[in-house]
Amino acid sequence: MAKVAINGYGTIGKRIADAVAAQDDMQVVGVTKTKPDFEARMAIEKGYELYAAIPEKQGDFKKAGVSIAGTIHDLLKKADIVVDCAPGGIGAEHKPMYEKAGVKAIFEGGEKHEVAGFSFNAICNYGKAIGRDFVRVVSCNTTGICRVLYPLDRAFGVEKTRVVLVRRATDPGDIKKGPINAIVPDPVKLPSHHGPDVQTVLPHINITTLAIKVPTTIMHLHMLNMKLKNTPGPDEVRDVLAKAPRIRFVKASDGLTSTASIIELGRDLGRPRYDMWENCIWEDSICIDDGELYFFQAIHQESDAIPENIDAIRAMMELENDAQKSIQKTNKAMGML
Ligand code: NAD
Repeated sequence: MAKVAINGYGTIGKRIADAVAAQDDMQVVGVTKTKPDFEARMAIEKGYELYAAIPEKQGDFKKAGVSIAGTIHDLLKKADIVVDCAPGGIGAEHKPMYEKAGVKAIFEGGEKHEVAGFSFNAICNYGKAIGRDFVRVVSCNTTGICRVLYPLDRAFGVEKTRVVLVRRATDPGDIKKGPINAIVPDPVKLPSHHGPDVQTVLPHINITTLAIKVPTTIMHLHMLNMKLKNTPGPDEVRDVLAKAPRIRFVKASDGLTSTASIIELGRDLGRPRYDMWENCIWEDSICIDDGELYFFQAIHQESDAIPENIDAIRAMMELENDAQKSIQKTNKAMGML
């Protein structure tokens, strides 16, 4: 039973905690918060032991009547592995603390590849994560792109990929970021960083990415274009993607015409926090035009990388050596059928 600590119980941290708790070969030994807010109270209500992320702020919890079991340093003594879910860049600052405590650590996509020296996606490189001390689980967008590139490259050979990313402005709980009434090239200087980020997982893939930010909070939308070495028909593409894990086909003809209706589907499925862990590919969009493949997919930014974190824990802790077995175990425990 791997003992897992979550440092930073925010958007990603709380989801990883719940996903770990759903597995039978790992357990949550504690989560941290920087302040005694509603998320701290919710963590306790859910049965997680709470620890102060910043030791100097322990007193704030006592003053607010929120009981803590100690500080991050106490938590690390109980853990085999920590998942760092602090805001991007802070994980790198935490690395020396993890090294000193002798715990393995997973970093999220807001950190640079160099913080772990290895970037992970379960379907692409599970085997190379086995036994590692440090792993970075790539961002929501990179996860979504890797999940489709890997099987398509294996089946048909990808000569060149272009992806336009339409990115959500921020997460639903955030009131500070925008835009609220604009379309923002982000970044203006092309290409965007997403292509090189995909190459941290799949170095041989020839990829160029462009991104814009739009006023929505629920999902990203990707427009993918691929020149394949062996040109398949749309049905063959569909068959390959249908066999790949963590892919869900949606159909406009079923009324799933936008990211809004996909999130409504998540609600109807009774998903926790309406999470859609899978890439949602519009089946009706898959087409071959002038020998090149095109399709749309929607990516739920808050949740698609969560199952990847579970597989990363399993690989690093050497609980399972087979990628497919780990992926299936994770999916089943989370309720991803
Ligand atoms: P968040 O702001 O929702 O949560 C971060 C949590 O860390 C908050 O609870 C915050 O209080 C806490 N925190 C702040 N400073 C800390 C510190 N020094 N030590 C410990 N905890 C601290 O952020 P998030 O969206 O959960 O992002 C976490 C990581 O996941 C980032 O690397 C981000 O890039 C990545 N990520 C985010 C998304 C997304 O869409 N939200 C998707 C994929 C990956």
